[in-house]
Formats: sequence, structure tokens, C-alpha cells
Amino acid sequence: MTPFADRLAHTIAATGPMPVARWMTLCNANYYETRDPFGVGGDFTTAPEISQMFGELIGAWFVEMWRRAGSPPNARLVELGPGRGTMMADMLRSTTAAKWTPAVDFVETSPLLRSAQAARVPGAMWHDNLEHVPDDAPLFLVANEFFDALPVRQFERVVSGWRERMVAADDGGFIPALAPSDATALVPPRLAAATVGSVVEASPASTAIAAEIGARLARHGGAALIVDYGYAGPATGDTLQAIRAHAFADPIADPGEADLTAHVDFGALAAAAGVAAFGPVGQGRFLRALGIDARASMLKARATGPQAVAIDAAVARLTGDTAMGTLFKVLALSPDRKPIAGFE
Ligand code: SAH
Repeated sequence: MTPFADRLAHTIAATGPMPVARWMTLCNANYYETRDPFGVGGDFTTAPEISQMFGELIGAWFVEMWRRAGSPPNARLVELGPGRGTMMADMLRSTTAAKWTPAVDFVETSPLLRSAQAARVPGAMWHDNLEHVPDDAPLFLVANEFFDALPVRQFERVVSGWRERMVAADDGGFIPALAPSDATALVPPRLAAATVGSVVEASPASTAIAAEIGARLARHGGAALIVDYGYAGPATGDTLQAIRAHAFADPIADPGEADLTAHVDFGALAAAAGVAAFGPVGQGRFLRALGIDARASMLKARATGPQAVAIDAAVARLTGDTAMGTLFKVLALSPDRKPIAGFE
């Protein structure tokens, strides 16, 4: 056992089984604190790490939204969970070209990733959570593969009702368990009659952040773009997964050594935000509407043969139906209902 796994086993021995959400919180904090997980040599590859086109197109989308808001000079550009800072660096090329030089705020808990972000976006400010970002100006907020890393509670249908899923420990390691008390009141009524063994997830951590984003948009204006894999719930399904070295792993074996994620419930985020919501639409459709094909042609015009092949491969990966094009989805939040680029 790693020292971290040992500590978890001691915690469970002392205080009893912990809810899956608590397990996810502790494991992911340890995971992101101790490594840069991205890319071929890491555990997973995200869209901004595939191609600069991703961040540039999203940057152009924000330029359009900023202009629509009257080009407010004090606007904040905020990113939740910026990873290596690659996407923001690419976005800033688009904003700079449009003569918008926003204050950049990063919400990031990992000190290791903060230093990677500082190397790419030297002028940024860092915060532990969105509440700490000054609430004084129009908010332009982006989050790519951030919400999937936030903890979910899981409820399992049993014969007598619903129980929260927990993680317990025995001599051999960690094992799944169910809380003794009934949790039917926490399951959406229209799912309550699901068959025995069904799982329903809820992410209070995610909906709290969505509510904060919505409140800020309503107060000061702006726009938010949330990109992730997920569904428009409520729905049943156990989506908790562990990814290690680009393959699925067991979410309760080797705690803190794999990326733990759950699919994002875009319906729940939109409802919690309480402002106008657009989508979710597939990432492929969104990027094509933003002009990824024209952007690729421009890049290819000044590329070598192998570079051109790589650009085509990146477009296919970001937009293809069997790659990221439909599994990944895009949700926009806005203080008003005027149509938005990419969601027509
Ligand atoms: N957006 C980046 C990274 C995605 S990985 C990309 O697309 O490449 C998830 C990111 O969220 C990491 O930067 C991780 O450190 C950060 N993160 C995870 N949980 C967090 C939390 N609770 N608060 C703030 N940041 C968090």
C-alpha cells in the first residue's frame, strides 16, 4: 500500500465506511497534487493538449461574447481547472488579436499544476475556488474536463428503497459497501422506481459551482462555456471511472493513483445556474460551427506534409463521432436568451 492508501485505510478503520463522494474528493486531491497526468506518457489526453485549434476557437467564441456585452474593459476571463494552462495560452492568442487583454483568473488546487500554468500564462491570478475570484466585473468563464473530476454521490436501488454507496476496508484492501440508512429522499422522484441495482448520481459540489456561476452572470453579465463528457439528466447509471495510463482501472483499487471521474449531468448544471442555458451540443458540432475546418486549412497552408497529416488527425479526434465529437458536449450559460454562436 502507498502511504496515502494506508492513511485512507486508517481513516475508514477509525470512522467507518466513507461515501463515494468523499473517496473521490480525497483520491483526486492526492492524484492532482502529485503529478502532471496529461499526454502520452501520462494517464489521459485532453482536447487542448491535442491541438492549439481547440483553445483558439474557444478564445474566438469568448471574443464574440465579450463584444456582444459591449467590450467591457474590466471583464475577467476565468478558467476552472486549467491543467497545464495550454488552453488559456491558446485562447489568449485569439483575445490579443481582438485587442482584448483580460485579467486572467485560474481556479486550481494543485500546486504542481499551478506552476505549469504560471509558465504558460505568467500574468494569471490563482484561487482555490470560484468564491475567491473577485465578484466585481463581467464574468467570462471556461471549464474543460473540470466538472468530471468533482465528486459524485451515488445511490443504489435496493429492494426496500435507496442506499448511498460507500467505500469500506477489509484486510485485503478497499471494498464497496452501502450505507445503512435509506436515501430515497435524495433521488429524483421520477427515477425512484428504477429496478433493483440501478444507480443514480448527484454532484452537489458541481451544482454549487454552477449556481455561483449563474449568480455572477446575472449580476455582472458575461458568458460561461462548460465542456465535458456527460448527459442531460436526470438519468440512472454508474459512471464513476478510473483512468490510468490511458486505460480503465478499478476506482477503489490503488487510491490516488488514477484519475477518478464521473459523467457530468448538464441538465443539473443548467438548472442550478438558473440563467439561460444553450445545449449541450456535441463538441464536434460546436467546433465545426465555430469554423474548425477553415482554421485547419489555414494552418495546413503553411505546414509541412507530416504537420498537415497531424492537423487532419487532430480535427478527426476532436470532432469525430467515434472520438470526442459526440461523447464530449458543450453547454453555454448566458444572462440572456439571445442566440449564441455554436448553438444555432
Ligand atoms: N482543463 C484542463 C485540465 C483538466 S484535468 C485540460 O483540459 O487539459 C482537471 C483539472 O482540474 C486539473 O487542473 C486539476 O488539478 C483541477 N481540479 C480538480 N479538482 C479541482 C478542484 N476541486 N478545485 C480546483 N481545481 C481542481
